[in-house]
Amino acid sequence: MRRGPAPDPASRATRALIHLDHLKENIALVKEKTGVRVCAPVKANAYGHGALAVAKTALAAGAAYLAVATVEEGEELRGGGITAPIILLSIPLPEEIDRLIALDLEPLAGDEEYLAALEGAAAKAGKRAAVHLKIDTGMGRIGCRPGGAVSLAARIAKSPSLTLAGTATHLAASDSPAVEDRAFTGRQLELFSAAVEAVKAAGIDPGLVHAANTGAVAFYREAWFDMVRPGILLYGYAPADGEGKPAMAVKPLMELSSALVFIKELKKGETVSYGRTWTAAEDTLIGTLPLGYADGLSRRLSNNWTALIEPAGDAPVPRPLVGRICMDQCMVDLGRDSRARRWDRVAIFGGPAPHAGVMAARLNTIPYEVTCGISGRVPRIYME
Ligand SMILES: *Cc1c(COP(=O)(O)O)cnc(C)c1O
Repeated sequence: MRRGPAPDPASRATRALIHLDHLKENIALVKEKTGVRVCAPVKANAYGHGALAVAKTALAAGAAYLAVATVEEGEELRGGGITAPIILLSIPLPEEIDRLIALDLEPLAGDEEYLAALEGAAAKAGKRAAVHLKIDTGMGRIGCRPGGAVSLAARIAKSPSLTLAGTATHLAASDSPAVEDRAFTGRQLELFSAAVEAVKAAGIDPGLVHAANTGAVAFYREAWFDMVRPGILLYGYAPADGEGKPAMAVKPLMELSSALVFIKELKKGETVSYGRTWTAAEDTLIGTLPLGYADGLSRRLSNNWTALIEPAGDAPVPRPLVGRICMDQCMVDLGRDSRARRWDRVAIFGGPAPHAGVMAARLNTIPYEVTCGISGRVPRIYME
């Protein structure tokens, strides 16, 4: 077997480079475009990129707020020394409420039962808890009906243990350029604006008004209000405009790569991996990567993805993944004349290879699922 350069002793062959410099640029782009505060959603381990590193960089790049989905995620950030305001996007169990108050998380709330529990826990802790009134204008997930906004806002504003830090909604179809989705988003924004105006007309300060997810940052100026909450956009994936082009020039953060840890010759007619789904049409060289579905490489990419072999000092060569992807390993057909060597790096997505959004399209899913799916076993290597 021919040998390339020795592997980096700092990590295993399979690794995810996280370009924090791209995050800074993406945040700058959003700030420049919208001119309002940015809340960086870092739920789900920052969409798989690493919550603490992303949160710190986002704040350093000028994000005003962070958002998490669970109390535990908030605890990780506070434990890491983060003092910035953190919105709690999802509803916790009653048993978790004392903890969220202790951590000063700012829940999205839109019903009396939850508000009463928050109020009770805040009073017990001798605190005044900041909450964001969540209005459901068409997402059908959490929050009050627009017609219930004024009375809940008043209830929060009058409470000695709560403050109304913000008023929010969430858009269901803002990333779609389709005519009916544009009409639906327009209606959501009208309902939301009217509810916010009604709160103000009742003499109540709605706090920070926020609605815009990625699609609305890209396409709906009227959704920006006081703060925007783009998630996937900050990680480098922009929705497509009407012509199918990315709506904003953001840069993907994540680059998944591995290395050829074994190379062997296969004879014409021999097969690769479980179920023998791939047969060598001629004598060839097969490379093995220590990367499998347990690392987050979907098994549905078996015989259905092209990796980029990066021979040291040579131009990268695209070669197909062949045979079923296993739990911990997968194989690539290098071709009989390959100059690839053991330990050569192999780009899977991002960097020199197509980004996670392209892989997502191949899998008939969204980039969120691809980056969130890269498992905890894959070391994240941060590039400043
Ligand atoms: C996840 C989330 C966002 C960010 O959504 P993207 O589509 O990634 O921009 C914004 N707001 C809420 C309430 C969310 O749950």
